[in-house]
Amino acid sequence: MDRDVQRKDAFYIGGAWVDPAGTGVIEVIDPTTEQVLATVPEGTPADVDRAVAAARAAFGLWAATTRQERADYLSALHLTIKARADEFARTIAAEMGAPLKMASRVQTGIPATVLRSYADLLPSYPFEEEIGNSLVVREPVGVVGAITPWNYPLHQVVAKVAAALAAGCTIVLKPSEVAPLTAFLLIEACAAVGLPPGVLNLITGYGPVVGEAIAAHPDVDMVSFTGSVPAGKRVAKVAAGTVKRVTLELGGKSANVLLPDADFATAVKVGVAYAFLNSGQTCTAWTRLLVPADRHDEVTAAVVEVVAGYPLGDPFDETTRLGPLASAAQRDRVRGYIRTGLAEGAQLAAGGPEQPAGLDTGYFVRPTVFAQVEPHMTIAQEEIFGPVLSVLPYSDEADALRIANGTIYGLAGGVWSADPDRALAFARKMRTGQVDINGGRFNPVAPFGGYKQSGAGRELGRFGLEEFCEVKSLQR
Ligand code: NAD
Repeated sequence: MDRDVQRKDAFYIGGAWVDPAGTGVIEVIDPTTEQVLATVPEGTPADVDRAVAAARAAFGLWAATTRQERADYLSALHLTIKARADEFARTIAAEMGAPLKMASRVQTGIPATVLRSYADLLPSYPFEEEIGNSLVVREPVGVVGAITPWNYPLHQVVAKVAAALAAGCTIVLKPSEVAPLTAFLLIEACAAVGLPPGVLNLITGYGPVVGEAIAAHPDVDMVSFTGSVPAGKRVAKVAAGTVKRVTLELGGKSANVLLPDADFATAVKVGVAYAFLNSGQTCTAWTRLLVPADRHDEVTAAVVEVVAGYPLGDPFDETTRLGPLASAAQRDRVRGYIRTGLAEGAQLAAGGPEQPAGLDTGYFVRPTVFAQVEPHMTIAQEEIFGPVLSVLPYSDEADALRIANGTIYGLAGGVWSADPDRALAFARKMRTGQVDINGGRFNPVAPFGGYKQSGAGRELGRFGLEEFCEVKSLQR
């Protein structure tokens, strides 16, 4: 058995695989089998020092490359990931449980597109402009610490790395300790395209140790963090010691609002898909379905019917729509929320906290639907990050807006109406970074990020690039 365990025993620093300073290892658990899949080194602040020094040493040369040179590297990286897409998808499916089809189309396909988008953006991006008697230039911010979560282990890394590389920054990357293997593949891809030594460095380890060492480091100019609200707040506090730039992509509790004249059948189908994508472990998941009170029962019945078509199972099985959650801790957390929902009086319409029948092994959670959820309930306020959907009745449009905006979060959302102008007017009033109108599809170059405690800063496209730039004014 043990011979199947992948043993990663080095960090990638300055263009070479180097021995860690410490001796600790972290086990990566396959959430489907509950067996050890791999081990990675447990980094220390000494490893961070070394990686930051390598990134600093590489910064001058990388910042001085032409935009076309950087576009060429990004383009080559895009092609390399596409060529190795199957390996990326299989690694993602194994390390965090996403169904293979989805791991391929979404988890691997989107980051490949994002790399391409930055290669396309660079040649025409206005790094310089004239404002009055000033020449205003955008320059790379410097050495970037990138800290990422486990739910989209390639996408969350690429959203930072592609934009930072495009801007001319060098990077120290710390992926999630829960799902770090994809980052090793990405490093292999960077080495294969000849990315210069020190431009991208990889350290694995725990957040409070390696993550905080990055956030505190005096020679790191910016931290780009994606993860939970508590960890994001901690990163911001630690980073404040050196007044470095901080961008935060945090959690969500997004509302999907069905206005009375909407096409309910389509809205329910798409709404369930958005709520349960990646077993609900998606920061933008539409976890609150807001429906007119007089249509509540009808919509709930339709939701339950759609959810019945979401088979749980092995991520490598073609028919699986919902894999396991990424870790035992996440499964326990989600089941805890389901129990809280029951205790607070929400009506269980589907699912529940028990281990699903026929799946004795694996961190599975039954797709769960709560009805008659009230806005003050814990399950309507806190991010659950699992396959749990709450149906909330509203009395009129003003009530719907109050409920939609009534959490600490503001990352995403949806609104549906037969009248596109009515839906747009509602979307404008939602205090959230992204709203999809009548199922408008994901745009990989549109700015992505949160209002309120969902974060600060934006990723993707031009707005994402600008986060990694300093602005200098030259008066003439
Ligand atoms: P997490 O906050 O536990 O961990 C995220 C990363 O931060 C990991 O690499 C972790 O090691 C590190 N970390 C943890 N504590 C730290 C600390 N004190 N200092 C520095 N780094 C620290 O989150 P997670 O469980 O991996 O991911 C789930 C969360 O991520 C959810 O809340 C989800 O909404 C959020 N998320 C947000 C987005 C977005 O773009 N807004 C995208 C994906 C996930």
